[in-house]
Amino acid sequence: MKKILFVSSEVYPLIKTGGLADVCSSLPKALTELGQDIRIIIPNYPSLKTVGDVHFLCSLRIDNHPINILETRIPDSPVVAWLVDCPELFNTTGNPYLDEQGLPWANNAERFALFCRVAVEVAMDKVNRNWKPDIVHCNDWQSGLVPALLSMEANRPKTVFTIHNMAYQGLFPVQSVYTLNLPGQLWNPNGLEFFGMLSFIKGGIAYADRITTVSPTYALEIQSPAFGYGLEGLLAHRSNNLVGIINGIDTHEWNPETDPHIHQRYSVDSLSEKLHNKTELQRRVNLPVNDSVPLLGLISRLVEQKGIDMIIECLPEMMTLPMQLVLLGNGDKVYEQRLQNIARLYPDKIVIIIDYNESLAHLIEAGSDVFLMPSRFEPCGLNQMYSQRYGTIPIVRKTGGLADTVVDTLPESLANHSATGIVFKEAHAGALLEAIKRTLLLYSNHAAWQQMQTNAMHKDFSWHRSAEQYLALYNSI
Ligand code: ADP
Repeated sequence: MKKILFVSSEVYPLIKTGGLADVCSSLPKALTELGQDIRIIIPNYPSLKTVGDVHFLCSLRIDNHPINILETRIPDSPVVAWLVDCPELFNTTGNPYLDEQGLPWANNAERFALFCRVAVEVAMDKVNRNWKPDIVHCNDWQSGLVPALLSMEANRPKTVFTIHNMAYQGLFPVQSVYTLNLPGQLWNPNGLEFFGMLSFIKGGIAYADRITTVSPTYALEIQSPAFGYGLEGLLAHRSNNLVGIINGIDTHEWNPETDPHIHQRYSVDSLSEKLHNKTELQRRVNLPVNDSVPLLGLISRLVEQKGIDMIIECLPEMMTLPMQLVLLGNGDKVYEQRLQNIARLYPDKIVIIIDYNESLAHLIEAGSDVFLMPSRFEPCGLNQMYSQRYGTIPIVRKTGGLADTVVDTLPESLANHSATGIVFKEAHAGALLEAIKRTLLLYSNHAAWQQMQTNAMHKDFSWHRSAEQYLALYNSI
């Protein structure tokens, strides 16, 4: 049995801004089921949604900050979470990283450096809990300083750093090195320095014993300039210690047979029941109720990564095709505005809901025929897997985890029952539009469509398999 300290800035359902939170909840749960002793450490944001008992565990002081560590559990699971309570720094409500204008909190460097230093104290059991991990598993830039700081300790635990998204690196002005009181030895071009800036993510990439990312294709892509954001050289240099392990999904939360958020539950053996969810979705969002028109869904952060610009470019021509579109998302204000402007012109065909709404996300997965995910890059992606589980055919671009989890529908893949979606290559609107047209043709072929749905619903996206790969990795260090 391994003792594992799991370091993350978000964990579902305590706090979530994206897929990171899902992974940092599901993986610890799956590792616990595999008999491992795991503790999660996360900042105690005021917006953290704890359930049940939260009690004081211990206190410590870093620089002049008094810090308490509180203990709770991840709701509906035995997994213990340690909350780093430092109201002086984590006093911000709402999003853990951004203010109301969508700009990073001015003291983010200080906040997450402190979080990392507390994680190191816990990892070295300087808080006297009589619990010292074998493995410290860090996630994304917010925990990137942990492997760097631990590298300076004798008798340290082994470190794993998982990159969930290279686009977010935690870059700060050089002065931060001094204000954060970081050890001088770490400040060099092979360490935390990145073209004269302090890089949190480099702390993970340069110093962790192993680096992982969330799909095999993304592990290769980030070693190239188009995806590596200037760190491709370092990643290629560390390629012997870099692997891609595809994320699983929470198969309890996302199960069409038991989902409490949807209108009519169904399984691969009662696929015709899925239609009731389509009707309910059309009713709920005020689209004309129509069984036969293909309904496309999209749930996403509205940011460039997700190919929202390509969708916007396609929309006028999409509106000439027999289809409906429901889009749920929020993010970039420019995209929000442009989408709403277009939607006003076609109220019978397209509905844009600017919101973050978990429950509606479930109904969209269940009620749509097709799910759109034309990402420019996608480290792993979750919705294409949820979609397959719900018999909703994903249209994806061939990148990262999308390439690894969706099998394009071609004569061969239909014949050998592996086809589960539509995959297109080029990141431009023309290619997306062609993929949509190809999908609509397939939709009109009832037998082929049903076979794709069945293939998709039979796929195993559980965490169990991925957790076993992580465990093998821990054992190999
Ligand atoms: P990323 O982490 O890059 O945002 P992922 O596909 O890995 O992308 O994970 C996104 C997660 O966030 C999914 O669980 C998705 O359903 C959810 N999500 C994104 N936007 C919304 C929204 N507006 N409402 C509800 N859920 C959303």
